[in-house]
Amino acid sequence: MTTPVTGPVLVLLDHDADGGLRPPTLELLTAGRALGAVHGAWIADGSDPDEGAIEVLGTYGVETVHVVDVGDADARLTPVAADGLTAVVQRAEASVLLLTSSFENKEIAARVGIATGAGVVVDASGLEVEADRVVAAKTVFAGTWNTRCAVRTPLAVIALKPGSVQAEPPAEPTTVALVRQAVTVDDGARRVQVAEHTERAASTRPDLGAAAVVVVGGRGTNGDFALLEELADLLGGAVGATRVATDEGWIGRDAQIGQTGVTVAPQLYIGAGVSGAVHHRGGMQSAGTIVAINSDPEAPIFEIADFGIVGDLFAVVPQTIAELRRLRG
Ligand code: FAD
Repeated sequence: MTTPVTGPVLVLLDHDADGGLRPPTLELLTAGRALGAVHGAWIADGSDPDEGAIEVLGTYGVETVHVVDVGDADARLTPVAADGLTAVVQRAEASVLLLTSSFENKEIAARVGIATGAGVVVDASGLEVEADRVVAAKTVFAGTWNTRCAVRTPLAVIALKPGSVQAEPPAEPTTVALVRQAVTVDDGARRVQVAEHTERAASTRPDLGAAAVVVVGGRGTNGDFALLEELADLLGGAVGATRVATDEGWIGRDAQIGQTGVTVAPQLYIGAGVSGAVHHRGGMQSAGTIVAINSDPEAPIFEIADFGIVGDLFAVVPQTIAELRRLRG
């Protein structure tokens, strides 16, 4: 049974460039409410969240939003966001800081942990308070072990995986108070500047859930999806990934196939560098034809594959691409 923490539960309010709250943030607000009074940290260029965002935050029971102005520093950079968040944590005297467990946020969590001396748990899948300690659940060793980690410091920094909690508003909305805070960002957080950024053209590939052909990459890609994208484009297919690949930030989370991702049932599934773990299979094993490319002949994916190629994907996929191009003249 969870007992409330003493200080506020501060939630990092992840938002897109247009100020829209990212859906996993609502999951954090739901998880946070079970622990205590929920505050939000809005880290931007000093501009307030728009009325739409504030309404959603009130609907999800947020009492106070701390609007952080990082001045001329770039709020998109993790060291800058970490400085801003550290200042809010200290001012709000928060007991818990919750972040969505994304690639960037895990780095922010670590930086805040170092700055505040807090215990940090990333990739958590649940949390509760037991004997005045925040206890986070997380799986380790590719999901083969469940652990529970008790944080021993007054502040617990927890990065919760998307999908761990069902987002649900409370019965009664709150009136959100805005507290503005200017933060002077340390020189150490400014060592890197974004010199230029260009939005990538929208994908012309079919929707992953509906595609007839899906080409999937796992840890074996080591982060390089270029060949798989080329193969998918040749076949008019979509690109998917295992959770390892999305957790590593190699590809967006919307590409994840499996128990905690998208379920696909394409006519053709090609998995490269994918072991075929049970959580992944749950989202793809009803595919029509399964082709597996894996350097380990013992990889479990071969148990369900219609065609298996034992080999290095960086050798096999270029040959496949070349042969497809040759056949098509
Ligand atoms: P690994 O299991 O590490 O396999 C990598 C494979 O690549 C190995 O078989 C290796 O032989 C091969 N390889 C390496 N180099 C090469 C190369 N050069 N050429 C060819 N092959 C190579 N996972 C999901 O995918 N989707 C989910 O939705 C999902 N949900 C989960 C939910 C829970 C609650 C838990 C606990 C886990 C979940 N997982 C999920 C994780 C899942 O258990 C596995 O850890 C994950 O699927 C493994 O991903 P992988 O195959 O990329 O990595």
